[in-house]
Amino acid sequence: MSAPNEEVKPGNFLRAIIERDLEAGTYAGRHFAGTPGDAAHHAAGPLDLAKIRTRFPPEPNGYLHIGHAKSICLNFGLARDYGGVCHMRFDDTNPEKEEQEYVDAILESVRWLGFSWEAHGTSHLYHASDYFDFMAGAAEALIRAGLAYVDEQSADEMRDRRGDFNTPGADSPYRNRTPADSLARFGEMREGKLADGAAVLRAKIDMSSPNINLRDPALYRIKRATHHNTGDRWCIYPMYTYAHPIEDALENITHSICTLEFEDQRPFYDWLLDSLCSLGLLAQPRPHQYEFARLNVTYVITSKRRLRQLVDEKIVDGWDDPRMPTIVGMRRRGYTPEAIRLMCERAGTSKAGGWTDYASLDIALRDDLDPKAPRAMAVLDPVKLVLTNWDELMGAGTIDACSAPVHPAQPDRGRRSLAMGSEIWIERDDFMEVPSKGYFRLFPGNRVRLKYGHVIECTGCLLDANARIAEVRAKLVPDTKSGTPGADALKVKGVITWVAVHDSIPAEVRLYERLFNDEQPDAGGRDFMASLNPHSKRVVSAYVEPSLASAQNEDRFQLERHGYFVADRIDHAANRLVFNRTATLRESFTK
Ligand code: ATP
Ligand code: MG
Repeated sequence: MSAPNEEVKPGNFLRAIIERDLEAGTYAGRHFAGTPGDAAHHAAGPLDLAKIRTRFPPEPNGYLHIGHAKSICLNFGLARDYGGVCHMRFDDTNPEKEEQEYVDAILESVRWLGFSWEAHGTSHLYHASDYFDFMAGAAEALIRAGLAYVDEQSADEMRDRRGDFNTPGADSPYRNRTPADSLARFGEMREGKLADGAAVLRAKIDMSSPNINLRDPALYRIKRATHHNTGDRWCIYPMYTYAHPIEDALENITHSICTLEFEDQRPFYDWLLDSLCSLGLLAQPRPHQYEFARLNVTYVITSKRRLRQLVDEKIVDGWDDPRMPTIVGMRRRGYTPEAIRLMCERAGTSKAGGWTDYASLDIALRDDLDPKAPRAMAVLDPVKLVLTNWDELMGAGTIDACSAPVHPAQPDRGRRSLAMGSEIWIERDDFMEVPSKGYFRLFPGNRVRLKYGHVIECTGCLLDANARIAEVRAKLVPDTKSGTPGADALKVKGVITWVAVHDSIPAEVRLYERLFNDEQPDAGGRDFMASLNPHSKRVVSAYVEPSLASAQNEDRFQLERHGYFVADRIDHAANRLVFNRTATLRESFTK
């Protein structure tokens, strides 16, 4: 029974599968040689110390986004929770579009999210391209066993013979060539004697299978391309569907978790691994594939191509723009690894798709930061307020020390000092010359409390040449200072935040809102550019209290009334304070 105050664990059907496997001892007798390898390699190693093995296998062809964060939290999280290990694997079998820049960014993002691929004294960081030799050898073994053949039909002929959902496929004229013939031809493919596209290696399964993925799927294609890891060594490359199961098996993965679009590939995953296990090439028990519904978040797009378009067309200021759903973007915005992990956990893991409300990320952030973030005051849209009786009451030039808790619920964290003077900055919307109904902040004749300070009474305002409020005027009400005896005798309805003119620091504050107005910006092929929110970024000149002068990059605060902010990772410096708003204090967006 769980404790009454324990957060209810959201559904995750994968936990039940893993718990069943652990109970049955499905993977208990496996050996692991410490490095990936074939059946003989692992058999020579000790019993596997990892109770389960999962993997996070990105293609290094772009920046990770919030959907990948889900996959990272799931795979690394399950391994952590069940005494397992999660491998960090670059699925770099496609020679095109892979770059070191992405490799570095991906590793940094996974680390930043709080996960590690180090376990049992080993770094489980792998590259699928390191398995090319094994994959080619396994292909030859399949040919010898009569389970694969080289097909030299044209792409059109192959397509015509594949059939469709209602029509069974037809055998290729090359299907019954002898293994020796296929083996020789495959050798020529590998040696570069055939042109790109002139032949493919196909599995020999069943051209009339109701599952089209089992109609003799391609295993290898010819492609002259320079690979970022293997250079020009290869001119044949394995298909993803052939490579992935083998990668899992060589690494002793137990639970290979992927998104639902691979469900129809599972029978081939099983066919391939069962075939290679019976040929004695791969260790048993072999991995199994499990599919879950991908994470979709409202107001967000995650297609790499479309994210790239936002960057290329300068709609955003780069991959790490705080409005981007990339992990680097969310980090720069100020989301914490804890908040992202919490949001992914709360979203649950199931086979039924659906949309997760973007607000759940902000809720997770508030839950994480409310107990952690120090408080501070800042005035984002400042107008000056002059206390006309200051000199008379306090003495000209006098500074009145005020103090505020670093955290209202944690007195042991100490207090911040604020120095009140005759001139302060207040929020422009905390004053109305003619108050609207129900308005109880500053207007002529009304009294409010300056948070942590005195009660003041508004006496009027000065206008500038454009009839805009230039200055608000007020009088200090004596003997009302917060924390002094009798201060509360005078009841006022409004409390406003402030910083003193002489005691505040200018700062650039960047206010972000969602990038798109449409909840599902690119669903159903909609033009996501049409729903761009023109107000997604607003930069304001603010004044902040002195405690923020020492803020370091990526320090986080709650600015009272305004929300959670982070000192920008890149642009913030001691002589130029830059804060990004991560989230407001509560949901204020209207749908
Ligand atoms: P593409 O295939 O377009 O290059 P991808 O988003 O599938 O992009 P990968 O690098 O293949 O990128 O993804 C790595 C892992 O992250 C995969 O296991 C994939 O299933 C998972 N993943 C990607 N997007 C999501 C998502 N929205 N929700 C959950 N998992 C995801
Ligand atoms: Mg992919």
